[in-house]
Amino acid sequence: APPAPADATAAATAPAALRPLTILFGSQTGTAEGLAKRAAKAAGQRGFAATVIDAASYTPAQLGQEKNLLLITSTFGEGEPPDNAKQLHASLAAPDAPALPNLRFSVCGLGDTNYVQFCRCAQDFDTRLEKLGAGRVSPRVDCDLDYEASFTRWLDAALAALASDAPASAARLVSNDPALAPEPARAPSTVEPIGYSRTRPFPAALLVSRNLNGAGSGKQVHHVEFSLEGSGLAYEAGDALGVVPQNCPQQVAELLAALDCDGEEAVPAPDGSTLPLRRALTECYDLGRPTPELLAALNPAAVSAGASTDARPATPFHVIDAVLGSPAKPAPADFISGLRRLQPRLYSIASSPLAVPGQVHLTVGAVRYEKDGRPRQGVCSTFLTDRANPGQSLVGVFVHRNPAFRPPANGATPMIMVGPGTGIAPFRAFLQQRAASAASGRNWLFFGDQRAATDFLYRDELLAWQRDGLLTRLDTAFSRDQAEKIYVQQRMLEQADELYAWLEAGAHFYVCGDASRMAKDVEAALRDVIAKAGAKTTAEAEAYVQRLRETKRYARDVY
Ligand code: NDP
Repeated sequence: APPAPADATAAATAPAALRPLTILFGSQTGTAEGLAKRAAKAAGQRGFAATVIDAASYTPAQLGQEKNLLLITSTFGEGEPPDNAKQLHASLAAPDAPALPNLRFSVCGLGDTNYVQFCRCAQDFDTRLEKLGAGRVSPRVDCDLDYEASFTRWLDAALAALASDAPASAARLVSNDPALAPEPARAPSTVEPIGYSRTRPFPAALLVSRNLNGAGSGKQVHHVEFSLEGSGLAYEAGDALGVVPQNCPQQVAELLAALDCDGEEAVPAPDGSTLPLRRALTECYDLGRPTPELLAALNPAAVSAGASTDARPATPFHVIDAVLGSPAKPAPADFISGLRRLQPRLYSIASSPLAVPGQVHLTVGAVRYEKDGRPRQGVCSTFLTDRANPGQSLVGVFVHRNPAFRPPANGATPMIMVGPGTGIAPFRAFLQQRAASAASGRNWLFFGDQRAATDFLYRDELLAWQRDGLLTRLDTAFSRDQAEKIYVQQRMLEQADELYAWLEAGAHFYVCGDASRMAKDVEAALRDVIAKAGAKTTAEAEAYVQRLRETKRYARDVY
């Protein structure tokens, strides 16, 4: 990314020459990248010459040349670095990583406290930089999904520290607790984007929510359409849509009964206003995994008795489990104060604005499962498939940019897309874009799901694109149509020579869908394809994949 220009006024009044500052980002879904750009703007206003750099195109040797560094990184899956930071993470951990005695730095982590390895990647970078002799000028802050306040506080503290010539302290504070982080010296200077955004979602009319599965399917995947008319929101194929969900009314009713409340009790909303309890629980607060504060409020005895970690019962899975398992009935306002804010969910956009101006489409799989003997359901997915009403509901949405996941800039470049299940979403967008822009590049899609008869999502559209030649190749893997499982990666291996020939012709390779198993297996299959068809060793094939990643020809949107 090009360096962000420093603000002219700030530059003119800066007491000394502009301080150089490198802002590195490790980003899977674009959040860290967006925050890095915001950080650069804020730094420019404070007399820094800031350059935003993608961790993928950065080496430890370059780090040895830097004086001032801000590193913003998410963590992905089970404590892994995001794809673009994998190489830097590994090479910094290597024994031959250079000493960094002249570097002053601060790290900001982005994560989700629902994961055990919360902000692990940021922690790794933070400790490793210190081990290599760099000086931490301001403590790391680990941000939860609701990152705005913690990020702003971190940025203000880090920029203030970098602006002073004081030597780096050995501050080791590691916290996601805003109360422990230094207070900003003045009003946050980070720039909020104008118009509708995460902090100000657009109330979009729900136009369509249609089941894509046939009768008898084990899945419930919906095609969802929203109107963006009048929003001023713009997106590109590859972006995600943030959706503000509402909790299930039955679940709220069950919770109210467990609390001995009727729902009319006045409670504070996160924005400071006052709402009836029922509405606050439906629209504002997360009823998923309970926070330590809530557990303490529900069971003060366990905390004061100082029960050892081993003796403590397993954390209840949902807020309702914690309430049902506790004799305490906290006052509504106390109960609310122990809840997290309900967070928007991100969905890969399934449309191109060139094909459907004024609209945005999603492919949403209803999440339902059983846990601890109770039926459970995904909050936002079932809100969109079951509870929101097409033609009636207004749903809060915003665009989440994902610049690392785009069709090739050159319309003639071939692209290979692997998108089983709901992973098809962004590839419908990519294909719509290529059709609408009359791009000449060849397109190859691998799609898989359980059964051809009921789960061939967007079947008619895909077959029509195949007929008219937009889809050069369409390979499907229906896992449950025969005795043994067949997955997309098997189709890749069956056509190793052809796939390798596409890569050699400059094709971009994309994967979207399940992160835990599918994306890993597909990456292994990609290596196997390259080794087999390219007559390479495993190490050479791995290096080939790494080059694809570095040159932005291998991109993933996985969840
Ligand atoms: P799935 O990934 O569950 O299934 C699509 C196809 O992939 C099926 O044929 C499945 O076969 C197959 N598959 C299973 N394992 C592998 C593997 N290792 N390699 C390749 N293919 C495999 O599709 P969904 O779109 O339903 O779900 C995708 C992921 O997203 C899941 O992890 C799901 O839990 C999650 N999800 C999350 C949502 C959210 O709101 N956050 C919403 C919807 C889904 P088979 O099942 O027969 O083994």
